[in-house]
Amino acid sequence: MNLCRICGSKNATKTNSHLLPAFMEAIVGSYDHSYKRDRDILIKKTPYETKVHVGAIPSDVNDRLFNQEELSDNRIKTELAVNPCAMDFVFCPECEKALSSYLEMPYSQQSRSSQAVNGTLAYFFWMSIIWRMSIGKSFGFRLPENVGSQLRESLCIYLKISKDGSADINELIESTPFCYKLFHCNNYCKNTENGGLIHCWLSDSKKSIMCILGDYGIEACFSREFKSEAPEYFLNKSVIESCPVNQGLKDEHIQPIDASLWSETHRRFIQTSKRTIINGHLNFLNYLWLKLIEEGHVISDGDIPTSMAFWIIERMYSDDGTKFGDKFTIKRWHDVIIEALEHPENWNH
Ligand SMILES: [Zn+2]
Repeated sequence: MNLCRICGSKNATKTNSHLLPAFMEAIVGSYDHSYKRDRDILIKKTPYETKVHVGAIPSDVNDRLFNQEELSDNRIKTELAVNPCAMDFVFCPECEKALSSYLEMPYSQQSRSSQAVNGTLAYFFWMSIIWRMSIGKSFGFRLPENVGSQLRESLCIYLKISKDGSADINELIESTPFCYKLFHCNNYCKNTENGGLIHCWLSDSKKSIMCILGDYGIEACFSREFKSEAPEYFLNKSVIESCPVNQGLKDEHIQPIDASLWSETHRRFIQTSKRTIINGHLNFLNYLWLKLIEEGHVISDGDIPTSMAFWIIERMYSDDGTKFGDKFTIKRWHDVIIEALEHPENWNH
């Protein structure tokens, strides 16, 4: 049994611990844009794989997503049921409960009220999310070890102070290497025209991170001072510069941003990430190609022909009646590659 990643002393017996709180996951992924929990459809896309997770969605939505006859029990168990925002056996019951009682519940309540959110609560709430996403490893980044362990320690002490009020919280904040700017596009994901997105980007220097989490955008630095290193596609420089920084000692500042700027951020991000994804597909196809040569199925002395690779990728994205949730399964890659091998006249002209 692993030890709890927060306190490091008790057994991590909890299953389905949320790395991203359920109420935030619901903003990003509720299938009906209702922001209600357990209705999520999350599509995880990396350069090498696409995985679909579904919560408790109605059967007609399920029907629209998947060809039910081809949906195997194995795929349901090992893919669809696996929530990329949650993890088993990372926290003990006490720490899990403390996260919920002292961070998630009060933050969720206060952020929905018309009053300002308590700055200390907000500070540890966002810090805990970034730290938790990092330990999950499924959000595309890992904090440098020294940063991760400093944030863990502060979080652990914060939860303890919240429980028994044993020490001065301001002192803890002053010694925690964290500050952030928070942007919010209210109800952006409620609009059925928009899709929710979870995307994290650790800067090259690893001194800051930028995250898009549904209606929220955050840039955080692992020091007491804020210095923006956000990529070009995130909001714009003047909006980031002029936004006050949150350092945990005053009420949280949430910078409202308008839907056009937030959707422009999404558009530019997708433009940038397309290249990464296509390069990933090309690497994957080349790897398979070399395997096929090695095993004697294909005779070739080089990389996969470019026109063939692009034909395969185009075919994967094309609308041939395959349902959305079935588009990027291993089986479909297999079928399309076989089709390309058997019909070179399709791409070799
Ligand atoms: Zn614990």
